[in-house]
Formats: sequence, structure tokens, C-alpha cells
Amino acid sequence: MPFAYLCDFDGTISPEDIGAAFVRRFSAGRDAERDALLEEWFAGGLGHRELTRRECELITATEEDAIAFGRTFKLDPHFAPFVREALGRGDSVMVVSEGFDFYVRDHLARAGFPELPWASNRAVFEGDRVHPEHPFADPACSSCGNCKAQHVRRYRGRGFHTVLVGDGLSDRCGAKAADTVLARGDLQKWCERERMPHVTFENFADVAEFARRQDLSAPLPRPSRTTSRSGPRGR
Ligand SMILES: [Mg+2]
Ligand SMILES: [Zn+2]
Repeated sequence: MPFAYLCDFDGTISPEDIGAAFVRRFSAGRDAERDALLEEWFAGGLGHRELTRRECELITATEEDAIAFGRTFKLDPHFAPFVREALGRGDSVMVVSEGFDFYVRDHLARAGFPELPWASNRAVFEGDRVHPEHPFADPACSSCGNCKAQHVRRYRGRGFHTVLVGDGLSDRCGAKAADTVLARGDLQKWCERERMPHVTFENFADVAEFARRQDLSAPLPRPSRTTSRSGPRGR
């Protein structure tokens, strides 16, 4: 059975959370309002779609500023080799992000994967104002801007064993829907609290190692010709 790896972007493919840093950087002077919103979200009183909308109201940034800022971050250096190896084996990789399109698209293209499937929220810039759009909002979920469960279910419906790879609370819907969860950070803590089986990881070198171990269709190593010829024949 092929595996589909649905990978969170902020805090996972990008070790730093670019979306959160973007909000912090371009809402300078409005820290108290921003922190209050985050607290409300952590406490469960605010969905992530609503959090994004209200954060955007605090932001002053042009699209040019935003893209340049996004480029100051680096992806996990193990991500690109993991993707190449997984695709080479016949597995699928999709990026599922509760962040914004402008940096996800840009980073994937610059990492050499302009064709890799991805889904995120959309940031629409008008001068120095930003308005979020949620092309992947799922009517079945009142919280997420881009509910990761729908992407997991789509791959599952196509016969994949689904693996959600993530680090945060916006991965919860995806994790519940997935066959296997690879977790770190707040997602790991949440899995522990909820007693949800999961595998921990540090970076994409670990994800690649996990993926290799699942490759049960790979032929077992065979003795080399030289060994079998020079060794004793028969049993
Ligand atoms: Mg994350
Ligand atoms: Zn959701």
C-alpha cells in the first residue's frame, strides 16, 4: 500500500513558524491585542479561521514586504531529500498548511518542488492591508481555515495509508483523520493528553527513516554473486 505524507508547513517543514512571525513582525505595537487573540485560541474560545481574520486586521504589510520577509527563513534541510526519496518509492507527499499561500508557494518553488501538491489559506493584499481567504474551509469543521482532515480523507479514499506530520494544534483535525501521526511540539503534547497513538520525530531525517521502515515491499538484501559462488553449494 502506498503511503501519503501530509506535512504541516509552519514549525514542521519550516522549523520556524513563518506565519506567526509574519503576524508579529507586521503588527508591531499591537502586541497586547495579538497576545489576547492567541490566548483565546489556545483556550479553545476562538477557531483558527477567526484567529487568522482578526490577526490580519492588525497587520500592515504590502505583498512585496511579505514575500521578502518569508524569504528570510529556511526550510529543514532534510525535507527535500525526504520528498525525493518518498516520491521515488511511489509514495505521495502533500503540504497542508493553516498559514498563508505567499510563503508556502514561494518556499516550495525555491526548494525545487513547484509541482508538489499543497493547500493553505490565501492572503489577499490590497495596498498595505491583508485579507484572508479560505479556499479549503470545510463546512464540516467550524474551526480551521484549511481543515487538514479533508486532505487526509481524500488520500485515504484513493487507497493510501495516510500519515499526518505536524507540530501544532492546527494539526488536530488532520491527526484524528490520519492512519498514523508523526508529532512533535504541541501536537505531541496534545496526542499524549488525548492518548492518541503517535510517533515522535525531531526533523525530516527522522520522517525519512520512518518512511523507509514502512517500505515492506522492498526486496530483502540478497547475498552477492561472489559470495554464493564461492560458498558451499546446496544446503
Ligand atoms: Mg505547525
Ligand atoms: Zn478542522
